[in-house]
Amino acid sequence: MYSELKLYIDGQWLNGEGRKGEDVINPATGKVLAQLPHASKADLDNALGAAEKGFQVWKNTSAYDRAKIMRKAADLLRERAEKVATAQTMEQGKSFAESRMEVLTSADIIDWCAEEGRRSYGRIVPGRTKGVRQIVLQEPVGVVAAFTPWNFPTLTPVRKIAGALAAGCSIIIKASEETPAGCVELVKCFADAGLPAGVLNLVFGVPATISEHLVTSDIVRKISFTGSIPVGKHLAALAAQGMKRATMELGGHSPVIVFDDYDPEKAADTIAAFKYRNAGQVCISPTRFYVQEKGYNKFVARFTEYAKGLKLGDGLEKTTTLGPLANPRRLDAMESFVNDARARGGKIQTGGNRHGNQGFFFEPTVITDVPDDSKIMTEEPFGPVAPIVPFKTFDEVVQRANSLQFGLAAYSFTSSSAQAQAIGEAIQSGMVGVNSVAISTPETPFGGIKESGYGSEGGIEGIQAYMNTKFISQA
Ligand code: NAD
Repeated sequence: MYSELKLYIDGQWLNGEGRKGEDVINPATGKVLAQLPHASKADLDNALGAAEKGFQVWKNTSAYDRAKIMRKAADLLRERAEKVATAQTMEQGKSFAESRMEVLTSADIIDWCAEEGRRSYGRIVPGRTKGVRQIVLQEPVGVVAAFTPWNFPTLTPVRKIAGALAAGCSIIIKASEETPAGCVELVKCFADAGLPAGVLNLVFGVPATISEHLVTSDIVRKISFTGSIPVGKHLAALAAQGMKRATMELGGHSPVIVFDDYDPEKAADTIAAFKYRNAGQVCISPTRFYVQEKGYNKFVARFTEYAKGLKLGDGLEKTTTLGPLANPRRLDAMESFVNDARARGGKIQTGGNRHGNQGFFFEPTVITDVPDDSKIMTEEPFGPVAPIVPFKTFDEVVQRANSLQFGLAAYSFTSSSAQAQAIGEAIQSGMVGVNSVAISTPETPFGGIKESGYGSEGGIEGIQAYMNTKFISQA
């Protein structure tokens, strides 16, 4: 049921022969699923050469023809959704329903980028002198090097691949070694759709070695990374040495602000379901809950009831609503958050412990009465732990919400349109959901500010990220 794992370089699928490699583990069982081959230095140089050649082919292919191949890849991904989702659940842990939705959304992203790529026009600006034509062109930046993490094995790679291809760039992607199958299956769809050799290349290996080799190569002109802030800063510094364009989609610690004028139970129903998606291992996951005093007790009770009702288990089992964490590092992190909260007087309303004796399961957890300087309120949880605290006034909660160096996503619930507008403007964040959690769609920009990164994926911004603006003044 799991995928055959290979590298994809210059239109060739390459297996482990003579290469180093590593085991891929099923987080629901702790057992080995497959061996993943690592790219050698020679493989990386071949990928760079192939991408350089592929760029010449792809940028000279019309946007119309590029879109046809991309749409075919999207159709293949939809046809293969069950298989891809199964492999993805086996390696990452999320429930099959979530996995399938991720794969179908990935297909939608390819379609949207394919179409929008056809509309990436420049413009003509009237000249000051008669006979002068001022032309603004959008040109693909060139070869892209992209790096993606383990929480969305298909969706995160697709945002980078589809954006780059729609703009006319070629790309080398290093997907997560812990969850490689999602991207292997995605790349297969593009290969089977007839994408020319070298336009898309997939490698795996030791992350720091691969990124250093690719980012410092003169062939690469753009970097796109999704992952943790420390790694993002390291790659941004490497990119800066070559003055290369970079998109950095890093971590967050998203505040949720529930005002007294909104039904606290309705807010709890919406946001609790969103909180435990992918066991909280989502960069835009709601992670700090501030509830205005009047509705606080009702919100905590309803939220806790939701958490208690979740069914932990292997994501491939139909009844499972909460899968395991993706790796043992997250288990250690959850224990450290809970222990720190307990030591500071936090009350565990539910959960707080590992679950079962195989795999990496952690109970859905709700903590109250934690101070603002506790670990869980200041460090990105990236797991199924939810701290809920009360607040009194608008100004106070804005100050608390904006007090961290993160700025990726934020959420608020209010029934006053004046307050909705005020909170949307006051929060320092790349994305704000007001009475809504729909902040990630193919057609809208997705990205953070402050230490959560820079640049956007999705929307027209996500294609512009792979284009240079050129001005031609023609007399
Ligand atoms: P990590 O920082 O070691 O790795 C994060 C990702 O970056 C992994 O996929 C890894 O393979 C990759 N990576 C690591 N070093 C790299 C390098 N030098 N060059 C290129 N890629 C590199 O951390 P982790 O233990 O996997 O996750 C810890 C934290 O990372 C989480 O708590 C969360 O804050 C953050 N994270 C964020 C996202 C996101 O979607 N923004 C995704 C995964 C993890």
